[in-house]
Amino acid sequence: MKLTGKILLGLLLGAVVGIALHTFAPQWFTTLDTYIFGPLGTIFLNLIKMLVVPIVFFSITLGTASLGDPKKLGRIGGKTIGFFLVTTTIAITIAISLAFIIQPGNIDIDTTGAEYEAQEAPTVVETFTSIIPTNPIQAMVEGNMLQIIFFSVFVGFALAMLGKKAENVTKVIEQGNDIMMYLVNLIMKFAPYGAFGLLASAVGELGLDGMRAMLMYMVVVVLGLVLHAVITYGSAVKFLGNMNPIEFFKKFFPAMTVGFSTSSSSSTLPISMKTAQEKLNVPKPISSFVQPLGATINMDGTAIMQGVATVFIAQVYNVDLTFSAIIMVILTAVLASIGTAGVPGVGLIMLAMVLTQVNLPVEGIALIIGIDRILDMTRTALNITGDAACAVVVSETEKKHEDSQLTEERMEA
Ligand code: ASP
Repeated sequence: MKLTGKILLGLLLGAVVGIALHTFAPQWFTTLDTYIFGPLGTIFLNLIKMLVVPIVFFSITLGTASLGDPKKLGRIGGKTIGFFLVTTTIAITIAISLAFIIQPGNIDIDTTGAEYEAQEAPTVVETFTSIIPTNPIQAMVEGNMLQIIFFSVFVGFALAMLGKKAENVTKVIEQGNDIMMYLVNLIMKFAPYGAFGLLASAVGELGLDGMRAMLMYMVVVVLGLVLHAVITYGSAVKFLGNMNPIEFFKKFFPAMTVGFSTSSSSSTLPISMKTAQEKLNVPKPISSFVQPLGATINMDGTAIMQGVATVFIAQVYNVDLTFSAIIMVILTAVLASIGTAGVPGVGLIMLAMVLTQVNLPVEGIALIIGIDRILDMTRTALNITGDAACAVVVSETEKKHEDSQLTEERMEA
């Protein structure tokens, strides 16, 4: 049986066991969760998290070094960020439109006693200036992705400029990258068990009843995720990336199952990069640059959840959203999804920022917090797919660029 099949089986078994325990033997669930499901999930998460910082450092440094030319780096960077911004804006627009059409919040729901304490979100300026690490080692210790990316791009650039002078270091980094990729393969053998533990734990805690109460909200979020994947990524991959969308989703699917299991874009990074490089044929330098950046700042799934949640909460509390409030939601949700770290649950924290911006009650978050664990899984699977779609698009446009330059050079000669 192939690995993806095994992971899917793990997920399915996890869901069945979780629901069964929640319904028939809730007292057993706690014990089993403490000693089996929880540890299985944590072992898997820790194993892959162990690789994230070294992989990001090695692969981005190597990627930048092999791009070499600063012009090329700027062009790829520009295209990547442009793709991220446009797709996230489309994502949130789809989400808000769906929520207005389906109206998941027009239900009788008791909001008395709903309490949620908002945590402070960083300001936009803070987010930008703190990208430069004052101490790169500390950035690695803390796992601060944007800072590690920033440092790695600089080191890679220096390696490219120094060429022969620093070729030994380039080799060490190349070999470091190979070691990490080998370890990804090894660790993935444990993925089915991890997936089982993570799903049993999440579903067992919530149970079917917990999900039924929020069914409409969940349906709208998931519908938004599916539409965005099919329409936005499907057409981007087809028209800009010159790849059959079905083939794209089929080949990237294994990474999506891991994103789903872990609810963390950055934990899934080692696997999503490997899948893009080996299955989608994205050149290493491009994948190494686009995907870590995407796992940190590109969160379309999160933006979709935030869009639906905002309209949902407005409907529950009977607040009319004006047109300018909606534009505000789009803007802040795009920023919030950039500021959201690729780890479980942060999207919900950043939702507080969006709600405050349009004067909606932050306590509304208490209504959706219960099912967020499950939705976090689904949106993370989409988040990492967006990064892969971008990598495919950037690599195709770069190929075209190089081809046209070659023809130009030939014409001149
Ligand atoms: N868990 C999401 C991710 O890592 C972020 C979020 O929406 O909470 O992609």
